[in-house]
Amino acid sequence: MNCRECTEHLYEYLDRELTPQVEQEIRQHLADCPPCGEHFDFERLFLDFLRARCRAHGAPAELKRRILRELFDE
Ligand SMILES: [Zn+2]
Repeated sequence: MNCRECTEHLYEYLDRELTPQVEQEIRQHLADCPPCGEHFDFERLFLDFLRARCRAHGAPAELKRRILRELFDE
């Protein structure tokens, strides 16, 4: 698991869609790589914020993902 692979799995990880083995590899990488750890923490907080907002407004999950991708993908 490198930084690029880790980031590619970010949304699946936050949505708990990964197999236990991949999730374990990501946890290991986050523990070893502070920049990725901070990145994931930030995204998780932002996702929680969006979930709370979108639940109130009934926005579909795909819209939330698109917003996140536009905000964070370069
Ligand atoms: Zn990393």
